[in-house]
Amino acid sequence: MAKGRSGMICSMCGSPDSAANPVVGIFDGLNLCTSCISFIDNARDEQLKKKTKGKSQKESGSSIPKPKEIKDFLDKYVIGQEDAKKYLSVAVYNHYKRINQPEDDDVDIEKSNIILVGPTGTGKTLLAKTIARLLDVPFTIVDATVLTEAGYVGEDIESLLTRLLQTCDYDVEKAERGIVFIDEIDKIARKSDNPSITRDVSGEGVQQGLLKLLEGSVVLVPPNGGRKHPEQKMIAVNTKNILFICGGAFDGIERKIASRLNTHVVGYGHDESGRKKKRENLMKYVLPMDLKSYGLIPEIIGRLPILTSLDPLDRDALRRILTEPKNSIIGQYKKLFKLDGVELNFTEDALDMIVDKAIEYKLGARGLRSIVETIMVDSMFEVPSSSEKVFTIDAGYVQQQLEQAHFEKTAIKD
Ligand code: ADP
Repeated sequence: MAKGRSGMICSMCGSPDSAANPVVGIFDGLNLCTSCISFIDNARDEQLKKKTKGKSQKESGSSIPKPKEIKDFLDKYVIGQEDAKKYLSVAVYNHYKRINQPEDDDVDIEKSNIILVGPTGTGKTLLAKTIARLLDVPFTIVDATVLTEAGYVGEDIESLLTRLLQTCDYDVEKAERGIVFIDEIDKIARKSDNPSITRDVSGEGVQQGLLKLLEGSVVLVPPNGGRKHPEQKMIAVNTKNILFICGGAFDGIERKIASRLNTHVVGYGHDESGRKKKRENLMKYVLPMDLKSYGLIPEIIGRLPILTSLDPLDRDALRRILTEPKNSIIGQYKKLFKLDGVELNFTEDALDMIVDKAIEYKLGARGLRSIVETIMVDSMFEVPSSSEKVFTIDAGYVQQQLEQAHFEKTAIKD
């Protein structure tokens, strides 16, 4: 066999080293010619493409649950909030369908980020968290209040994505299909609807920065969050397929809604129906223009096309939250006791009293947990060492435990 220029021959195809097809030594005893190297490269690329295609189809392609299935799943964990559940189910279904549409399709479905408006502690975060659990996609909750404009103390906007990257071990491809829940979006509202009145550092600049993330672009994310600095290596993340769900209490937005509704109502001479609406939950009439009057810039509102509201939790909802969700607070305690071989029971009036206390101290759904925890401390301490096999909590016990713990003095308003 001809040995060519250097005497080296390709270990794969046997070609001699030549100017047209040079052979190089790869490592000990293995030499490859340029054509074989590019053949191997191409084969590896093909393999990689097939692998990633298969993966994304499995992760969210053919297996995306239908809107009704999504809602059914949400029903297991979140009480009430029917409207929000319906809107979310459709939006999330469409989002993942959009991600999976064939690339050569000429109709481009636009991304539909979501904004949830409702009082604190009514299930906004829980809804977003539950959806992410169903879809098994990376999910993170970030607080809009930590953001500031460049130049002010705080975190850069891009750091919102750091935590998403961390949840999937910096697997960028995975993160790019994840869900980010931005809490307290109302806190970055401009202080005035009129942008020319004062320069407002807390609001508009941050909103402009956020816009870039929401609309879908490649951003450079600091791997450890915080502020960017020049010598740091950044990770490029495309936000095109990341679903952003924003949540905010928008305290006082009812006034804006009411004044909008009244103008209309008064104009048509239906004063009575206007007053009626005031008494109901006005939040459910929220429109994008109310968010604008509250201080969100129109561009941001445009990037959050799905707007839905959550209802305040009434007594009945709080009562259901105690026991009905799949991982309800009471259910969790029952399980803890069961692991010690003890059956834990709550009487109906004990449950009613827990709800009454949550209402009395204006603690909402979050307060249910702190109340139950306060009630359970003693029994959690005693029961594992006792021979009792059944432990029943009644209203008297609830009252006694709360008094003993001076609950009314330590309860912090939500
Ligand atoms: P928000 O994000 O609206 O401030 P969260 O979703 O964080 O409120 O709710 C706080 C806690 O209260 C949840 O972890 C959950 O235990 C309970 N909770 C609130 N709303 C509901 C609901 N609608 N159904 C079931 N649990 C709820």
